[in-house]
Amino acid sequence: MIINDQHYDLIIVGTGAGGGTLAYKLAPTGKRILILERGDFLPKENENWSATEVFQKERYHTHQQWYDQAGESFRPQTNYWVGGNTKVYGAALLRMRERDFEEVKHEDGISTEWSLKYKDFEPYYTEAEKLYHVHGRQGNDPTEPPRSQEYPLPAVGHETRMQEICDAISQQGLHPAYLPLGLKLSQRDDNQNDCIRCKTCDGFPCHVDGKADAEVVGISPSLTFPNVTLKTNAKVVRLHTSPSGGEVKAVEAEIGGQSHFFFSDIVVLACGAINSAALLLSSANGLHPNGLANSSDLVGRNFMKHLITAVVQLSPVPNPAIFQKTICVNDFYWGELGFDYPMGHIQNTGNILEDMIPTEAPPLLAFLAKLMPGFGLKQLAEHATGWWVQTEDLPDPNNRVRVEGSKLYVDYNPNNLEAHDRLIHRWTDVLKVVDRMTTNTVFPRGIYPYSNTPIRVVANQSGTCRFGEDPKTSVLDLNCRTHDVDNLYIVDSSFFPSSSAVSPALTIIANALRVGEHLIERLNKS
Ligand SMILES: Cc1cc2nc3c(=O)[nH]c(=O)nc-3n(C[C@H](O)[C@H](O)[C@H](O)COP(=O)(O)OP(=O)(O)OC[C@H]3O[C@@H](n4cnc5c(N)ncnc54)[C@H](O)[C@@H]3O)c2cc1C
Ligand code: SF4
Repeated sequence: MIINDQHYDLIIVGTGAGGGTLAYKLAPTGKRILILERGDFLPKENENWSATEVFQKERYHTHQQWYDQAGESFRPQTNYWVGGNTKVYGAALLRMRERDFEEVKHEDGISTEWSLKYKDFEPYYTEAEKLYHVHGRQGNDPTEPPRSQEYPLPAVGHETRMQEICDAISQQGLHPAYLPLGLKLSQRDDNQNDCIRCKTCDGFPCHVDGKADAEVVGISPSLTFPNVTLKTNAKVVRLHTSPSGGEVKAVEAEIGGQSHFFFSDIVVLACGAINSAALLLSSANGLHPNGLANSSDLVGRNFMKHLITAVVQLSPVPNPAIFQKTICVNDFYWGELGFDYPMGHIQNTGNILEDMIPTEAPPLLAFLAKLMPGFGLKQLAEHATGWWVQTEDLPDPNNRVRVEGSKLYVDYNPNNLEAHDRLIHRWTDVLKVVDRMTTNTVFPRGIYPYSNTPIRVVANQSGTCRFGEDPKTSVLDLNCRTHDVDNLYIVDSSFFPSSSAVSPALTIIANALRVGEHLIERLNKS
C-alpha cells in the first residue's frame, strides 16, 4: 500500500465529457487538483483511421467483461482513455428540448421530470457550445429550444448528395436541420482547421485532434496549469469514508498493480454512469452497507441507454460525400398524427465503410454483401447512407447496475419499444420517397436494412445516480453532491433523471460547467 503524502483540494475521477470539462473549469482556480484516470492517452497511430482495426478488431474498446441479467458475459463497447468516450464520439452536440425537462407521457410510461429546467441549463449550454466548438444553425428544427445566443460557429455544410437528400426530406413537408457538431473546423480559412472532414469520425479516434473531445478541449488545457496533476493508468477501486461516514476520507486506486491512497477535501466522480455507480456500490462499508451514498437504494437504478437503431439507406445512386454526418430530423420527436406520444430523434451516422459492414452493419446488409456477386462490400458501402434512429428509454428501477464480488452486472430490459418501431418504419418510408425523388431511373429500388443495438452498446448510458431535491427519491442533490456524503459529487451522465432522445454529451458538459461554478464557490469558502 502506498500513501500519497500530498493533500489535494479536489480529486476528479475520470476524464470524459464530465470529468474533462470539470478539470478545465476548475484549473484556473489555483486549487490543488488531482485527476485519476484508469486509461492512458489514446495513441496517435495509423490504426486510428482503420475501420478493420477500430470496428472489426475493437482496438480501442476495453477488454473488460461485464454480465447481463442472465449472467452471460459481454465485452462492453466502452473506452477507457484520457478523454473517455468522447475520444471516439460522433461529436453531435445537441441541447435537450425544453419539454424534456418536464414530466412527459410516453406510450409506455412516464419520463421523469427534472428538478431544474431548461432555463437553468441554458447559460451552461451556451458556455458548453463555445468550449466544444459547436457548429450549427438555428431555425429549421421545429423542436429546437430557445437560445440566448446563436451557435458559436456556422453549421457544417452538406456535401452535394447530402444536400440532395436534405432537399428531398424537406419536400415531404419535414424539417431537416444541420446537425450541431463539435469540430475544430473553420469553413472560411483552411489555416484555422484542425479537422480535415475525413471519412472516419463517428466511432473513430481523430488522428489530427480535429474533434472537440474532452482531452483536446478539457484535459490538455487544464494540464497547462501547475496546480493540476493527472495520473493515468490509475483505476479507482474504492472510496473510504471518515469514522462518521459523512465524508470521503481517501480514494484508493490501483496503479501498476499496487494500491495507492490519495487524500483531498472534495472528491468528484466522473467515471460514466455505469462505472460511477459500480464504484459507489463497491465502496460499501459498515456505515453504508448498501453502497456509498445509497440510503435511497437508488444507486445503480434507473439505468438508461436509449433505444438506438442503425438504418442503412442503400440507394440506387452512390453517395460520394466524404463527411456524411450533417443532417438531423426531429419532426417525429413528439409523435405524429395518430400517435400522440414521443417517438424520437434521427441523425446521420458517420460514413458506412466497407470494412465496417461485416461487423457493424445490419445483418441483412452483411448478408447481401455475400449474396451479390460483383456487387460486394465496396459497392454496397458506396451506395450507403447511415441514420441513427434514437428513442428515449424510460427510467425503470429494475434496469440497474449491480456489483457482486468483482463482477459488474447490467440488468436491462428495453421499454418504449412501440414508439421506437414506429419511428424506424416512419423513417424508412421517408427514405423510400427520398430515393424515388433523387433517382432518375423508372423503377428505383432502395433497400433499408436496420439493426438494433445489443446490451454491449452502452454509448448513451445515463441514469444510475439521479439528481433531485428529495434524498428518498434521488442520490444527488441539485449541485450533484451526494445527499449522504458531504464532500462527494458526480458529474458524469449518472445524474440524468430521464434521458430525452437526443445524444447526451452536451448536457453532461453543460452540467459539469454548472457544478463547476458551485465547486468554485465551495472551494473559495474553505
Ligand atoms: C462510438 C460513440 C459515439 C458517440 N457519439 C456521441 C455523439 O455524437 N454525441 C453525444 O452526445 N454523445 C455521443 N456518445 C456518448 C458520449 O461519448 C458519452 O455520453 C460521454 O462521453 C459520457 O461522458 P461521461 O463523462 O459520463 O463518461 P465517459 O466519457 O465515459 O468518461 C468516463 C471516464 O472515466 C474513466 N473511468 C471509468 N472508471 C474509472 C475508475 N474506476 N477509475 C478511474 N477512471 C475511471 C474512463 O476511462 C473515462 O475516461 C458516443 C459514444 C460512443 C462510444
Ligand atoms: S472529420 Fe474531422 S474531427 Fe472527425 S475524425 Fe476526421 S478530421 Fe477528426
